[in-house]
Amino acid sequence: MEQATPQAIQRVGVIGGGQLAWMMGPAAQKLGLDLLVQTPQSTDPAVAIAQSTILAPVADVAATVALAAQCDVITFENEFIDCEGLKALAQQGTVFRPDLDLLALVLDKRHQREFFERIGLPNPRYDWLEGDENEAELAAKAEAIGFPLVMKTRRLGYDGYGTAVIQAAAQLSATWAKFNRAPVLLEEFVPFQQELAIMVARSAQGDIAVYPTVETQQVDQICRRVFAPARIRDGVASRMEGIARTLAEELELVGIVGIECFLTQTDRVLVNEMAPRTHNSGHYTLNACATSQFEQQLRAVGDRPLGPTTLNCPQAVMVNLLGLDEPEASHHQKLETLKQRPGATLYWYNKAIRPGRKLGHITLRLDAGAEPRDAAAAIEAIWYGV
Ligand code: ADP
Repeated sequence: MEQATPQAIQRVGVIGGGQLAWMMGPAAQKLGLDLLVQTPQSTDPAVAIAQSTILAPVADVAATVALAAQCDVITFENEFIDCEGLKALAQQGTVFRPDLDLLALVLDKRHQREFFERIGLPNPRYDWLEGDENEAELAAKAEAIGFPLVMKTRRLGYDGYGTAVIQAAAQLSATWAKFNRAPVLLEEFVPFQQELAIMVARSAQGDIAVYPTVETQQVDQICRRVFAPARIRDGVASRMEGIARTLAEELELVGIVGIECFLTQTDRVLVNEMAPRTHNSGHYTLNACATSQFEQQLRAVGDRPLGPTTLNCPQAVMVNLLGLDEPEASHHQKLETLKQRPGATLYWYNKAIRPGRKLGHITLRLDAGAEPRDAAAAIEAIWYGV
């Protein structure tokens, strides 16, 4: 009988204990890894699946020092960490995967854009403000990009929080004032025909695993539904794969990254942003791919061989279940109805219910002949009533 090779990595520390860490639970069990989580609240989803938890905010460096003492490697489900504060720990030998330089790059949208440009990936037109510019400088930068344009907070933006579309020069100053004249990114408004996303994992040995390109649709700038695979021309799919591979290699990634892109009216692909972790656009992989994004992240950071990324059904749809402005009981009644849908798997994160909050998602595996848009609409009619 073949002898199992001893694996050096056994205990994986995860910074952040939300639903992304929670969904790593079954994968960790399958791979025989222990998960230790740093997260602020005992009610955070991943506390339920963690071997142990350090209750502390994700940017609490002292807590990460304590986490590191118990782990072989540290990975992330939340990137809003204190990179500077953690550097000493990395120098003393703690292994962060992905490494802290990559996290630092992602933390500032300006640095992301500059990095994409440096490695030859296609950006929308963009510029940035540091916070000390006067009105004339603001106007000149905006004019060079053209209107409409998008103003985004450079740090700590997510799910569209910290993003504003500016239609005309007259709104510039007032909009920036709403951002408290913080450092922002300015970029052209892309009248996209589709938003696309792709996940890519890379191991420490340099192996790369790319998932299929999916279409994401946002409502009020929050991901509402994902269609896998995206209905795009072969040329677009291969450009997406090329972007994923280039990024994984240039970043010297060890882990997994989600990449969001715009497909323009003329079939150009422009990069929007990347996330150095599992991503909402990859939740469908739990039910529809040979290896889920959560297992893949653990494989990459845990030095296990990467798994295959192929779809194991013709197509799939994922719909996010956001909190409704309705009583809790009504959420639970609707969940019961959703569970009955054929081919459906429901994930409910057990978070406190608040309107607009990501509380769960549902994935549908579909036959080749099914119309994914109708399938998503049927789910949304039950949940959102529209
Ligand atoms: P966040 O980091 O908050 O998720 P994003 O930059 O991804 O912010 O923006 C959220 C959504 O806003 C995008 O998915 C897209 O629908 C829209 N958006 C962002 N930037 C642009 C842009 N330059 N042109 C058109 N729409 C945009």
